[in-house]
Amino acid sequence: MAQIAMQEETTTEADPAVAEIAWDLGDLYAAVDDPQIAQDLDTAAARAAAFDAHYRGRLAAGEMDGNELHAAVLELEVISELLTRVLSYAHLLFAADTITPAHGALLSACQERLTAINKHLLFFDLEWAARDEADASALLADPAIAPYRHHLRKARADAPYRLSEPEELLLDEKSNTGNRAFARLFDEILADARFTVTSDGSRRELSEEEVLARLHSPDRTTRKAAAAGLTAGLVERRRPLTFIFNTLVLDHGVDCRLRRYPDVMTPRHLANETDGPAVEALLSACEAGLPTVARYYRLKRRLLGLDELFDYDRYAPLAETSDVIPWPRAQELVLGAYRRFSLRMATIAAQFFAHRWIDAATRPGKRGGAFCASTVPSAHPYVLLNYQGRPRDVQTLAHELGHGVHQYLARDRGLFASDTPLTTAETASVFGEMLVFQSLKEEIADPAQRLTLLCAKIEDSFATVFRQAIMSRFEQSLHKARAEEGELTADRIGELWLAANRPMFGDALTLTDDYRHWWMYIPHFIHSPFYTYAYSFGELLVLALYEKYRAEGDTFVPAYLDLLAAGGSAPPAELLARMGIEITADDFWQGGLAVLTRMVDEAESLAETAGVATPANSGRG
Ligand SMILES: [Zn+2]
Repeated sequence: MAQIAMQEETTTEADPAVAEIAWDLGDLYAAVDDPQIAQDLDTAAARAAAFDAHYRGRLAAGEMDGNELHAAVLELEVISELLTRVLSYAHLLFAADTITPAHGALLSACQERLTAINKHLLFFDLEWAARDEADASALLADPAIAPYRHHLRKARADAPYRLSEPEELLLDEKSNTGNRAFARLFDEILADARFTVTSDGSRRELSEEEVLARLHSPDRTTRKAAAAGLTAGLVERRRPLTFIFNTLVLDHGVDCRLRRYPDVMTPRHLANETDGPAVEALLSACEAGLPTVARYYRLKRRLLGLDELFDYDRYAPLAETSDVIPWPRAQELVLGAYRRFSLRMATIAAQFFAHRWIDAATRPGKRGGAFCASTVPSAHPYVLLNYQGRPRDVQTLAHELGHGVHQYLARDRGLFASDTPLTTAETASVFGEMLVFQSLKEEIADPAQRLTLLCAKIEDSFATVFRQAIMSRFEQSLHKARAEEGELTADRIGELWLAANRPMFGDALTLTDDYRHWWMYIPHFIHSPFYTYAYSFGELLVLALYEKYRAEGDTFVPAYLDLLAAGGSAPPAELLARMGIEITADDFWQGGLAVLTRMVDEAESLAETAGVATPANSGRG
């Protein structure tokens, strides 16, 4: 998973050490024209055709026992591993250098080949999902399929809601001109949009990413101008955007009705291996924690020396840091923090540097942001960064290496059982960031600098926990209103958006009337309904794990590493229960929320110590 928020690129002095940091993809293939690539694709195609000839219809006819089912899934996994290796390589080559035509050509050739090969394999999932519950349970109970039991059970999770094969094919084909077309139109409208920002007498036409980045400016006039520009640009496009929202919310509702899902959130819960009551408990706990947010923003108001905070002040930084952290220092910071936690974890992470599994340099044609790609269990993960030496970049390195360690440890489970659902996918990454954050904080002696670091961490956590929970609440109200009231106007959606957002800040921050339009650019609502609560889930889970580590010390470490090594081999609740964490307990989420409250306590007392939070301190205006 990439970072939730892509960081805006800014031009800083090149760090000579990081300019050299490019990955070596040789553990996948030697080069873009390595003949092994075509050979692997041919092997996969031949094995897929043989699979089709041998197995089609047999599962449906009830002719397979546990041993045969195991053999079939094993073969599917081998074929998938070949395809994933080629596709991972093509993706990584392209991500690091999108300009070289051979990279794009390899990627699209691989994708076409993959579609053709998949035609031989899709029947198996459909036949498996179509088996009746009693038959499937009997097969699942067979000890022979134990390594794939969870994988097979997950593959049936939405079985009760599948339509017949001709209906599924029809829906799939029509959605290219239906929901997928509207989602693409949304992307195109926002990609093409230019937002006019007027400040200091100059007018600039900015992209969405550029205008959003300006909301993080230390200069209030810049932030205010960016907010006005974003609002005006959204208002200008409100008719098509409102229509797209109405259409896609209705489409989701119709889909859920046709498939007889009990609730519009059910498909997401099934994919996340959770359920409605568990998610409701999470969202309610987040709502109960909102006074902590208001308390923090009252402090921030004082720290910035402002009489009133508005929505465009929300991301104002407390201090500008111009210190560049050189790449070798970042490596040392992250490995040091990892080592203090676990030598084994640091040893795994050190391999990423030693064997060139990281591409950290910024260069033209390289994609932005950061990610960790698991590739295949027979190789190892690769990390992509755009390292520019800011403190945030060090956190990003810690984050992606967390993913790297997680994926590396889970390799032994094989391709099908190593991947986790969304809700736990960020466990090791956020935990890794927490380790580095704590180490950095302990190193800084100056209370004002400590406070800046702490506030940045608090704001990141708030954005992940509370803002995402609020987005889920907004989406619930949006889907409900669309079902009950019919087509919604932009104003009506704006009311729902403000109603969901207002409780977050209490009286600490004023949402201007402009803010009512800011639901329009958020892609999750369009591309993946009810996606956002997984972020709240993941962050609070990690904070609770971190609490447990603080309480238990080194005895926590082996259980934690076992959790990571289990990958996606069992449902998250079961894996966590093995280490004594009852995620379904009523008060479970309180643990993570208490950590956030303590961080705000600490910020308040640091502000006292540093003497920066007095009304006399007039900050930037
Ligand atoms: Zn991540």
